[in-house]
Amino acid sequence: MRNIKRIIIPVLIVLSIFAVNVSCSNDEEIVLNPTEASGETPDSDGDSGTTAEGSEGEITLYKVTGNEISKIQDYKVTGKDLEYQKDVAKHKEIWSLVKKIVPVEQLKKMSEFLIYNGEVTGSAGFVIEIKRDLSDWRMGIAINYAYEGGFNARGELAYTIIHEFGHVLTLNDTQLDAAVTQESCKNYFPGEGCAFEKSYINELHSKFWNDIWSEYQDAKKDESAQQKFYEKYKERYVTQYASTNPGEDIAEVFATFTTLKEKPEGKTIAEKKILLMYNREELVNFRDHIRKNLALRKKGDAVTFELPKPGTWKQANSFGNPHKTKCRRH
Ligand SMILES: [Zn+2]
Repeated sequence: MRNIKRIIIPVLIVLSIFAVNVSCSNDEEIVLNPTEASGETPDSDGDSGTTAEGSEGEITLYKVTGNEISKIQDYKVTGKDLEYQKDVAKHKEIWSLVKKIVPVEQLKKMSEFLIYNGEVTGSAGFVIEIKRDLSDWRMGIAINYAYEGGFNARGELAYTIIHEFGHVLTLNDTQLDAAVTQESCKNYFPGEGCAFEKSYINELHSKFWNDIWSEYQDAKKDESAQQKFYEKYKERYVTQYASTNPGEDIAEVFATFTTLKEKPEGKTIAEKKILLMYNREELVNFRDHIRKNLALRKKGDAVTFELPKPGTWKQANSFGNPHKTKCRRH
């Protein structure tokens, strides 16, 4: 037994390191429907059964209708994940925060909501397109991190939701044409499709990335080069994580735009990026909606914010995977 343990433990350590490194692996798959995604068919009796086995910590998948969720399926889980699965009140509490953050008309772009355990992938949240034309998205929220230190401690979960929805906002079919290939794309190509000329991400790229694009292309090859690139161009980014790629940059800019109380003056490029969002009326309305719904709240005698301080989320001072445009590692 001891010998087996001696072998198994190092193997598990290696596997868990590997799992963190490939944490964004589900980003590039196109999930056409939940049963196909899990590689299994639903229960023959037709109810939302517990048949699918997820490979990335999946616990329960919901369908989003309007701003309400209804269960599509529970994944086959055991142990701690089973406890999480049974704790439906927590799923609903997380969803109630999503509802406060994302206006119902914006939720039309997101028809699925997944509760998962983020330990497998090392991520606190993710989004992925479920239609190739980018018109429909799934958001996943890691229930274990959502309750780390208490529900939405330090506004971390709110920040995750804002950042993740920032990807949907900037990569959906009103922003990108998924039918145009990289070769024939005249604007910025984030990977999922060709950005429309007036899209948020194309504006950000053409104004604040284009002049350093070839330098960035070289830098993203390894992390020490990425670090040097970031040090050189620090004043361009709201967080270190934002320098990962334009996809992460715009999600971080959106989250900072939302969480920063005052409108910046535009002294740095990072501030100018935030001002780009102030130029778009619909984004200002989105920001107002979030700030109104997550206003200062009293908790007993203490007054707490549901929003974090800008740029303070856990991975703000790290890099993500430069080759993925919509992944948030924990
Ligand atoms: Zn992200």
